Amino acid sequence: MRKPHRTVIPILAWWILLCAANVQGSTATPPGNDNYWQQFVHYQMNVSLDSDTKMLTGTSSILYRNNSPNTLDKIYMYLYPNAFRNNASIYSKEAQSFYFRPLAKDEDGGWIDISEFRIIPQKESSAETKVSAFKVDDTILEATLPAPLQPGEEVRLELAFKQKIKKFQDRSGYRDNQFDFAQWYPKICVYDEEGWHPVPFHLLGEFYGEFGTFDVTIEVPFDYIVGATGVVTEGDPGWSLVQVDTSLAVAEWEKKHAEMKTAIAEQMKTQARRRVSFHAENVHDFAWITSSDFLYERGEYDGIPVHALFRSYAKSEWSKVVTERGRRALEWLSTKFGRYPYPQLTITHGLLGGGMEYPMLVMNASDSEGLILHEVGHIYFFGIFGNNEQKEAWLDEGFTTFQTRWYFESRGQQNEDHHANKTWLQRHRPQDSDNASNRGWALNYMTSGYNEPISLYSYKFKNGMSYGINAYTKGSIFFEMLRYVVGVETFEKICREYFKRWALKHVNEARFKQVCENVSGMDLDWFFQQWLHEAKLVDYSLGGVKKEKTADGKWQTTVEINRNDEGIMPVEVELMLVNNEKVRQRWDGMEKKGTLQFTTAAEPRRAALDPNDQIMDKNRLGHGTMRVEFIPEYPRLWNYNPPDAYVVTYKPSLYYNDIDGLRLGVRFNGQYRNTRRLGLGAWYGPNSSELDGRFSFGNNFDPHWNYQLTLSKLEGRLIGDVSLRGSWSRALFTPPTFNLTIGASYAELPAEDVKYAFRRVEVGDNIIAAPTWSAGKVNQAYLNFNVNPRGIIWRSLLSYEIRHANSAFGSDATFTRLQGGLRFWIPTPRGDGFYFRLVHGTFLRQEDDNPVQHLFHAFDASPFEQFESFYLRSRGALPAEAHYHRPGGGNLRGYFDQPERAGKSLIATNVELRKALRLPVLGKLLAPVLGNSTVSAFFDGGRLKNLQDHSQTLADAGLGITFNKTVPDAWYSFIIGTNYTIRLDFPLWVSRPRVNEKKLHFRYVLSFQQAL
Ligand SMILES: [Zn+2]
Repeated sequence: MRKPHRTVIPILAWWILLCAANVQGSTATPPGNDNYWQQFVHYQMNVSLDSDTKMLTGTSSILYRNNSPNTLDKIYMYLYPNAFRNNASIYSKEAQSFYFRPLAKDEDGGWIDISEFRIIPQKESSAETKVSAFKVDDTILEATLPAPLQPGEEVRLELAFKQKIKKFQDRSGYRDNQFDFAQWYPKICVYDEEGWHPVPFHLLGEFYGEFGTFDVTIEVPFDYIVGATGVVTEGDPGWSLVQVDTSLAVAEWEKKHAEMKTAIAEQMKTQARRRVSFHAENVHDFAWITSSDFLYERGEYDGIPVHALFRSYAKSEWSKVVTERGRRALEWLSTKFGRYPYPQLTITHGLLGGGMEYPMLVMNASDSEGLILHEVGHIYFFGIFGNNEQKEAWLDEGFTTFQTRWYFESRGQQNEDHHANKTWLQRHRPQDSDNASNRGWALNYMTSGYNEPISLYSYKFKNGMSYGINAYTKGSIFFEMLRYVVGVETFEKICREYFKRWALKHVNEARFKQVCENVSGMDLDWFFQQWLHEAKLVDYSLGGVKKEKTADGKWQTTVEINRNDEGIMPVEVELMLVNNEKVRQRWDGMEKKGTLQFTTAAEPRRAALDPNDQIMDKNRLGHGTMRVEFIPEYPRLWNYNPPDAYVVTYKPSLYYNDIDGLRLGVRFNGQYRNTRRLGLGAWYGPNSSELDGRFSFGNNFDPHWNYQLTLSKLEGRLIGDVSLRGSWSRALFTPPTFNLTIGASYAELPAEDVKYAFRRVEVGDNIIAAPTWSAGKVNQAYLNFNVNPRGIIWRSLLSYEIRHANSAFGSDATFTRLQGGLRFWIPTPRGDGFYFRLVHGTFLRQEDDNPVQHLFHAFDASPFEQFESFYLRSRGALPAEAHYHRPGGGNLRGYFDQPERAGKSLIATNVELRKALRLPVLGKLLAPVLGNSTVSAFFDGGRLKNLQDHSQTLADAGLGITFNKTVPDAWYSFIIGTNYTIRLDFPLWVSRPRVNEKKLHFRYVLSFQQAL
């Protein structure tokens, strides 16, 4: 991989000139860009598409003018299609480091080959020029110029190329009868004051292009309709052949559309190919799209045509609204920044999942207004303001995300797309505002321990999530905070001045910052430095508030403010007066402590710090704005994290066991932005007249460490537990993740309460009672860790646990228990897969008094592990006939009716093969209730040493079926949850069945979890 050449002298010179311009102030030319230069390119391309073989052949003649003050001896080009040549490209290797392989098969890939390449100096003609030498490394072509290119000189490149179009992937390719051409042609790399930018196509990040002129002639089959950057200069793109008559009713239109199709087919008999030429100026990229299924509509903004091309099935969504939304986007952007400088806008229905921007043309997956605003906004932020998207992604992604939110804010509405077709639950469930949820999301990331600064090279972020949050979320909040710092009016002036100085030029942070500083008259060094290049956090809180009535009857209030972290922001204090009037003042926030003085006629009631949540304060607890909010525990409430509320949810709890009867209870959970987590629960059993309760509290020490304290009296057992938990991963949400828990616990079952701790086991016609918990105290210390290494196709989980109980801690039993496990699986996205588990457990000092709840069980998890599940805790909660299997222990599914198979040490393995079940008719009928189904074949085997020191080898095998259902976001998910799994396993063969039972026999077990 090559790095851009950095020529030190031009950069220095540029900086000095920039500073000089700053000092002199502005005269006729705006400051900052009077020494600006950019190269010029003019592409003349002729390309022809073979839609059957998915090949594009073409020629390109490129005029390159060196407007720089430097002499060039080389030239570089981007050959982006080569990123998908095979799985050895830089792009693909980066993808594989994040556990996915872009090309399932090599033939899905694509490439570009240069068949002829001539470099023709200014004074020569192509006839007398030899084919030039060049080398291609991944997606970069490098060639030495035959003679140095002096400042002001031109050179012409002539080349022929052949391109295999890839199956749609990333941003371009083909699917069915549509071809999206993006990052497709041999493109000159940018040369700017930093030198050349021969940066290959990376997994993360976008592009950088040289401004110029494009003349592109495209040849496709006649029935393919074409949209492209630029205006049509010759030929016909085919729009009129498929133009929607929006005045027609659906049925009439269908008829007319069929007639149009027939007419096209008829015309193809005499004219097999379509040839159309496009011309574009002042653009740094050229994209086109073609499909035999497109429909066309036309709109207009102030004389500028807005073209829409979409697939026919989407007519009901796209028709009329897309051209109108395009018009509104142009109007908004033209008003806020500067008039749209291009002669057309084309909004097309791309193959990609979201949207992608190109000069004058966007490819969008849907008609969404937010998406149109974002992508059309990009024609400004990346297109008109041509930044290096790899180096400063925030400058285009952040700006356009910000302007999209600003658009909806100014229209007094939230993004309309998000609010259509809501269910009852979605309408009633509390939801953060767009702004609060963006900030909450950004703050979660910023306090996660994996925060990175906004301005990094895209491909240097730790993962795609970090790139996305920094470029889009934090990037857009940067502009909101800038607006807060300079004020709304000044900010609007900045937007217009930025356009005036820098439209159709290369922009960067320094150029944008200079505009901000010139317009606002403020020194914004600290702001740009802190928010773009550092990962500091902001945390202010109110100190003392003193009020005094002065001799003249007025009120004098002094408000102290503390800065608790490194980040700096000007911060506002709002004083609410008894007459409900509000007064506000701003403190610059620079020092550790500050005070604001208010003089008011009325008495102040309370003070609030940063009342509109504008400074990205990580903790608003000391702001005088906090409230406690009580709400029902709505399903899928995890996105609700209001900045100013400690949210307490409540939920009734109702279940049954034989001792208490119906257990009636209620649970409360409280948290503030996933900190200070509080849990409270109480249950009453009418049969036993017992009142039970549970309390827990947890908080974070730092991003990696948290603690949890639990006290409970539940169904006979008294448990106290305190633990310290640590967690680290390669990057946020990127495995491997390593978890460590260190804790101590106290657990007691008084002798009079052993009635809770039996399980009823059906043996033939009899029911036997097997004790599941020993009476007495077990006080122990424990340590547990797990790590989940993975590869592209495989996953794994390694875990180990040590428990030590000792009479020195007041425990009735003394033991050291070890348990380790490995899970390994190869899943497929369709739900098929291979699953393997190996587990080993033993007591180091093998006395016979080990408490039964900690023994290793052949069939399932130990009773101690099962205690967390309310339906497994006590006798009778689930009917014995359910043969319920809680995965764990030896997982020997055939031994559900032999609870005596528990002992001091165990080694076991489980193997399962799964196959997603696709039942054509039955599947469709069952899916709404049971969801996806998977069938499996399994084998379990193990060796168990029982309490009598007798070892036995046990095995079983059978078939199973599992149903997995994601419950829709509707009211009934209150009752049945957000998703469920039902597993039925049939261990038909068991090596050691019960007495009088055959090895081969019909047996079943039920579970709400996969076995492994
Ligand atoms: Zn974007």
